[in-house]
Amino acid sequence: MSNPSYSFDNTLLLTDDDYGDDHLMTSLETPMRPDAFELSDEAKMANIEHHFREIMLTLGLDLTDDSLRGTPKRVAKMYVQEIFSGLNPKNKPKIALFENKYAYREMLVEKDITFYSNCEHHFVPIIGKAHIAYIANGSVIGLSKLNRVVQYFAKRPQVQERLTMQIANHLCAILGTDDVAVVVDAHHLCVSSRGVQDVNSSTITAYYGGAFLKEARKNEFLQYLNLPAKSKVSEIIQS
Ligand SMILES: [Zn+2]
Repeated sequence: MSNPSYSFDNTLLLTDDDYGDDHLMTSLETPMRPDAFELSDEAKMANIEHHFREIMLTLGLDLTDDSLRGTPKRVAKMYVQEIFSGLNPKNKPKIALFENKYAYREMLVEKDITFYSNCEHHFVPIIGKAHIAYIANGSVIGLSKLNRVVQYFAKRPQVQERLTMQIANHLCAILGTDDVAVVVDAHHLCVSSRGVQDVNSSTITAYYGGAFLKEARKNEFLQYLNLPAKSKVSEIIQS
């Protein structure tokens, strides 16, 4: 991963728009069509409303019923404006960085960031928590922005490994450091509400970069999370 160049002339160093999805590894980019953003949001909602109505009719539902009549439109609006709004780069959070005036050189941990995503294989919810740590390399990010980065990438059809990596890669890019760790612990409703109907399992994925590749740093982070240092996590280590 290439570190971006930035200056300390003012507090706003770089906006997210300065970074394209080029910073993400190709295989971990959300698979998108080349014409993904040629339609307006309004046109997309009209399309989805039409097709979702067809799905409901095919299931045999009576769309003249007062309770069901507005559902296709509601679903279309929810898809485009809410739960899949993170597909569109125009909704990427604007990130301002601040100079690390206190020269704080230890890790900063933001834990228990609740998110709602959707499994791209079944289009049912993934509900989880993301835990983020980074060691500032001259600049720091507002805490609420860590949350917004998680929400942006969660609002896509996702797989948990990709969500973890997209959050991590984006933070590395905007913070200008590889010293980033991300742990995601989530319940997949496609596992609990259908299929094997396992309501107790959760899936943990983790990314450790830079200084967090060292066991001591990694374990310190995991201790803050009250996760056992040797918990069974699916580790994604960027080489
Ligand atoms: Zn699924």
